[in-house]
Order: sequence, then structure tokens, then C-alpha cells
Amino acid sequence: MTVDIKELLAGRTCGMDLDFSFRPELGPEPPVALAGVVFPEDAHASGRIAGPAGCLRLTLSVTVPWQGECARCLTPVSGTLEFGMERTVAEKGTLSHEEEIADYSDEYLIAERGMLDLTPSLSDAIICYFPEKVLCSPDCPGLCPVCGKPLSGGDCGCKKDTHDPRWDVLRTMRFPDEETPKKSN
Ligand SMILES: [Zn+2]
Ligand SMILES: [Zn+2]
Repeated sequence: MTVDIKELLAGRTCGMDLDFSFRPELGPEPPVALAGVVFPEDAHASGRIAGPAGCLRLTLSVTVPWQGECARCLTPVSGTLEFGMERTVAEKGTLSHEEEIADYSDEYLIAERGMLDLTPSLSDAIICYFPEKVLCSPDCPGLCPVCGKPLSGGDCGCKKDTHDPRWDVLRTMRFPDEETPKKSN
């Protein structure tokens, strides 16, 4: 999403409303938290760029519908990520300490020849605000290790400590970092 802010930079207007939909673009290698997450609908942003030409400020409210699956029980989970974004907007070459700005990209947005590309900042913000782990509920108990059913649906009736004789030999094995064989429980 690129916005033409020439009128603002020239001081011919002091505010510009923004209201647009966009496809979240997370690049070819999204962070682990977003692996497997899809965006079934366009995300939406609305807000304003306003202020005197030398001191433009962007404020945006962003909503991002998403779908994924619970990291523990694989149940499909969907939700809407909502966050606010604020940046100081400046034309390239007009800030005295511009070379430092790469380090402050969560504070500044730099326009080039009056065009402001919002996509990289929106993508960064989505990655930053997205939950570290998608879970169907914060205390999801995961899957039954025996039958693979989600334990959130109630007890599946499996005996969780079933004794598999094939592993008996391992129980009696000594490992180099162990003084005594593991006591079976
Ligand atoms: Zn779950
Ligand atoms: Zn089970």
C-alpha cells in the first residue's frame, strides 16, 4: 500500500484520511509463530496522516483476520489481530539524523519523492503483534499420546501409562551419563 503524501509535504493540506484493505505480506520465510497461519480475508487499516509539513504523524488502526491451528492439539483456530500503529512521517533527506533511522523504523516512516510505502511497516507490525503461539485456549492440554484425540474434548478413556514391553530393554540399559538405570514409574 503506497500513499501519495505530496500535498501534505507541500503544506497544501494538513490532514489526509486513510482507509484501505491490504493483503498481509510476510515474505517467503515467515517467523515460526506465523508458520501455517493464513489470511482468509484482506486485512484492513484506517486512520490519518496529519500535522504541519515538517511534523507529520501517521495513526492507523489495523485489523487482520487470520486462521491457523492450535500448536498443541492442531484444532483449527481463527481470530482477528487488532493493533494501533503510530509513526512520524518524513520525506527522505529531510531529517538531520536519517542514517540512524534504520534503527528506529518503529518510530519513523520515510517517504520517497512524496510516496509513502506502508506495506513493510504493516508486515513488521503484524509479525510483532502476532501471538507467539497459536493456541485454541491458553491451557489447551494437547493431544492424548495414545489415541491422538484432543484432550480438551474430555477424557478419551485411554490409559496414559500403558506399559509397552518393547521398551523394557531400554529401561535396563545404562547410559554413559547415568550411574544407575532409570527407575520405572
Ligand atoms: Zn488446542
Ligand atoms: Zn486417548
